Amino acid sequence: MSLTLQRADLLRTTFPVGGDWREAVSGVRYEIEDPALAQAFASVPDGDARDAQAALDAADAAFPAWRAVPARDRSRILARWNALLLEHREDLGRLISREQGKPLAEAIGEIAYAASYVEWFAAEAVRAYGDVIPPPVRGRQMLAVKEPVGVIAAITPWNFPAAMIARKIAPALAAGCTVVAKPAEDTPLTSLALAALAEEAGVPAGVLNLVTASRANAASVVDVWLADARVRKLTFTGSTPVGRHLARASADTLKKLSLELGGNAPFIVFEDADLDAAVDGLMAAKFRNAGQTCVCPNRVYVHAAVHDDFVARLAARVSVLKVAPATDADAQIGPLINLRAVEKVERHVQDALARGARLVTGGQRLPALGPNFYQPTVLTGVDGSMELSCEETFGPMVPVFRFEDEHAVLAEANGTPYGLASYFYTRDVRRIARVAAALESGLVGINEGAVAAEAAPFGGVKASGYGREGARQGIEEYMHLKYLCQGGLD
Ligand code: NAP
Repeated sequence: MSLTLQRADLLRTTFPVGGDWREAVSGVRYEIEDPALAQAFASVPDGDARDAQAALDAADAAFPAWRAVPARDRSRILARWNALLLEHREDLGRLISREQGKPLAEAIGEIAYAASYVEWFAAEAVRAYGDVIPPPVRGRQMLAVKEPVGVIAAITPWNFPAAMIARKIAPALAAGCTVVAKPAEDTPLTSLALAALAEEAGVPAGVLNLVTASRANAASVVDVWLADARVRKLTFTGSTPVGRHLARASADTLKKLSLELGGNAPFIVFEDADLDAAVDGLMAAKFRNAGQTCVCPNRVYVHAAVHDDFVARLAARVSVLKVAPATDADAQIGPLINLRAVEKVERHVQDALARGARLVTGGQRLPALGPNFYQPTVLTGVDGSMELSCEETFGPMVPVFRFEDEHAVLAEANGTPYGLASYFYTRDVRRIARVAAALESGLVGINEGAVAAEAAPFGGVKASGYGREGARQGIEEYMHLKYLCQGGLD
């Protein structure tokens, strides 16, 4: 099946190492499926340890020259990359929709979001100031300067094929680091197109190296980078079990780490909330990318006094969502990424129903559309004994819990190992301060469902990981501080 782009050369099916677009050393390729049809439409090289080694050698060789490029010039290259991403947003959106399944308007929105990080870090590149430290004794000058850490390895998931990799590569390049990266097995084409545009923007050969690999080869690629002390930093977005494994495996070479891991976000609607605003916020936060978002509300707690009213308003909105392939211009919910994802949603729904939950709307696969489509679903009568309360569903299903007491709902909201995002709706200013302080998460949406922005620090606490992406702090993840002490000046 073909994919028509205005710029056909953005469909890259080899990967860049040292400026050379190449096949895997093994010569093996693997197929990329369109999740709407569950049919292969392209293939990419299936890299292994030898390709990972070549990518690392290239990144290491390119580092001295790249770190020496003046910050203003690195900034200009990033600014050109941002402009190219926006210029080609429609083609890039088509690539995302095709390999990941999200509706085209959402996919184009993801490109704008990815580009916003590139624009942000183009500006941050020239502002990586250090400190002039007032010396405690005479005759000394004391400085703290920021330096790029060196080669960084980036590993990304499939749910945001452009944004997740852009918000790692952009600060790394801004800081003066060089990069080896492995995109997710399911969604390599978007990242290859991003790399092609980075090259066009002027990123020199060897500064950005990608290795695509099938799931079977993922560990052999990443293990090379984990074991090699030349990789000074690992930045990972994905699941908590894989994040834990990478943290353990980085210990021998003591790499700097950023781990953006799984979530289990609570969304609390208090009795004094603006219910229309709360439903709007939940629809935006929950159903983007068919619910396959790390900051998706996974548990919705609604005060008993407004529970039935809220559920009725929510069900009215959810039941009319248009589920369709991304090729349908009106699509609001696309397919899930693969059959495993559909099976997980189905398992959560069936487990909840078996334990006494009530199905308000949805609850079925949609085989007429394709094997990976699932109806947007609302359940009520859920409780903490159900699988959906402890595990990320990562699909278009909203479980509504009923609560009566602020103290008790906060204990439930925090009663998870995860701590990425949380949301609450209330009009009581004192409660806003209390609840915002009590929630154990890296991001808190207060009367707001769409919280992510390039200007804000994004990241979790507890089992959702550590490190921040975006904001002025984002570039610091790719730099270390060097203290310079000059004596004998008196
Ligand atoms: P995943 O299974 O952890 O995979 C993420 C990346 O790690 C993929 O590139 C994957 O390669 C690779 N990988 C898997 N096993 C590996 C191993 N043993 N060694 C080295 N690399 C390995 O996560 P996912 O299912 O793709 O993504 C969904 C998860 O990401 C959810 O938990 C979600 O909450 C989380 N997420 C978090 C954030 C955040 O900012 N906190 C953002 C988005 C998503 P393959 O593709 O080949 O398996």
